[in-house]
Amino acid sequence: MPLIELNNVTYAYDGNKNGNFFLGEINFSVEKGEVVSVFGPNGSGKSTFLKIISGILKPRSGTVLFDNKNLNLYSHKELAKKIAFVPTLTSSVYPFSVYEVVMSGRTPYLNFTGFEKKEDHEIVVEALKTVEIYHLRNKGINEVSGGEAQRAYIARALAQKTEMILLDEPTAHLDLKHQVAVMKLLKKLNEQQGKTIILVSHDLNLAGNFGERAILMKNGKIVKDGNAQEVLTQTNIKSVFEVEAFVTHKSFKNETQLNIQITCF
Ligand code: ADP
Ligand code: MG
Repeated sequence: MPLIELNNVTYAYDGNKNGNFFLGEINFSVEKGEVVSVFGPNGSGKSTFLKIISGILKPRSGTVLFDNKNLNLYSHKELAKKIAFVPTLTSSVYPFSVYEVVMSGRTPYLNFTGFEKKEDHEIVVEALKTVEIYHLRNKGINEVSGGEAQRAYIARALAQKTEMILLDEPTAHLDLKHQVAVMKLLKKLNEQQGKTIILVSHDLNLAGNFGERAILMKNGKIVKDGNAQEVLTQTNIKSVFEVEAFVTHKSFKNETQLNIQITCF
């Protein structure tokens, strides 16, 4: 039984001036413990797709099931214990500290008094240490670098202790070391804790070698869905992104790695 299942899902934004973006119809499901990387050009609907899976946006038509139960039937609090969403980084307007941002991941677990318990504090400290920003815990979220803020939002998702984590371009603002660290961390969460992960990325090499499964989106539709090595081909990359790519497969540590080179010549 899939963990998440979208059946004939469509979505359109109200007041979209261009009026021509339409998502769907989307039929898509993910098994528990799967890792899926989502690729596609700007405006192809990747963020909209993730927001529908997370329950932030309600489909115009079709259904979204989590654990075989319609997403609409979960309370906000219940859903926040099941699905964590790490949005694309935008600047925060509120002067929260890094610690407070990560603690906000514990909100669904607080009782009616709203007071944090020792356990919540310990979980937050562990999450801060996992993404290597414990030393920044008392700084304002607006006073740290984009990459550090990005890691704070990932730590918040960890503190949320969910079965599924959705990440929208999580490595976009990170230096190389932390790009690799975040991917390794996600891999570990998947392998050791069985977390189901859906990740949007523009990094075909990093994310293409991350999960076994990749999907390509274009104009609000999923145009390819399958094994990452079969989906990320020269032909598919050209038709979706309109760029020339050289794709080779290299054996590395007994695993075949994709090597995608985009050329501007
Ligand atoms: P992607 O993440 O692939 O870049 P999005 O899902 O963010 O694409 O957006 C898909 C389309 O929907 C784009 O054309 C975008 O301009 C439009 N869009 C996104 N958010 C809104 C919104 N809140 N209101 C109106 N249009 C939107
Ligand atoms: Mg987006």
